[in-house]
Amino acid sequence: MPRLFIAIDLPEELKQKFGTIKKRFDLPQARWVKEENLHLTLKFLGDVEKEKIKKINFTLEKLTRNFPVFSLRTAEFGAFPNLNKARVLWVDVKEGKETVQKLAALIENKLSKIGFEKEKRSFEPHITLARLKKPVPVSFWPSIDWSYSFEVNQVILFESFLKPTGPIYTPLNAFPLKK
Ligand code: ATP
Ligand code: MG
Repeated sequence: MPRLFIAIDLPEELKQKFGTIKKRFDLPQARWVKEENLHLTLKFLGDVEKEKIKKINFTLEKLTRNFPVFSLRTAEFGAFPNLNKARVLWVDVKEGKETVQKLAALIENKLSKIGFEKEKRSFEPHITLARLKKPVPVSFWPSIDWSYSFEVNQVILFESFLKPTGPIYTPLNAFPLKK
């Protein structure tokens, strides 16, 4: 069964920018997300029966074509659960945060009608940069500028292939937002 998730893909320039910044962290234990894989997850679907993909496509098509294009700006660097015990390093969203939350909630609601369970935790939009097996304290560099503005004009349905060398994400379908 294909493993699927819905995400906002990021501009090449942003991927390169974040990819370069990571070199400034002295964290040999961290598993950094490959530059080309950087994304903002809207909804994780997990393993899905192939026959269900048509329904997902139909649902996403219907909701995205009425959802206006919006701008998003990345904001601060941070970590889950916190910077003293970092397991996941991320960059969050400033401008456009509420709109991303609205879009994610809409996707969640519509997909729940075709059998995808709703997330129990609240949705915090973020771009994962790295993961750590053992939590470590991470000092952060206030001098690094994580801010980047771009226009979100589509949503992507990705398939994720988990490989020992890291996941491979393949876009299955792109859903343009309303211009
Ligand atoms: P790996 O699992 O090998 O570390 P990955 O997490 O990047 O790689 P996937 O597990 O396929 O790859 O996840 C795809 C996307 O969905 C990622 O952004 C991931 O953070 C997110 N995701 C995965 N599992 C969940 C989950 N249970 N709830 C919410 N988001 C999830
Ligand atoms: Mg994962």
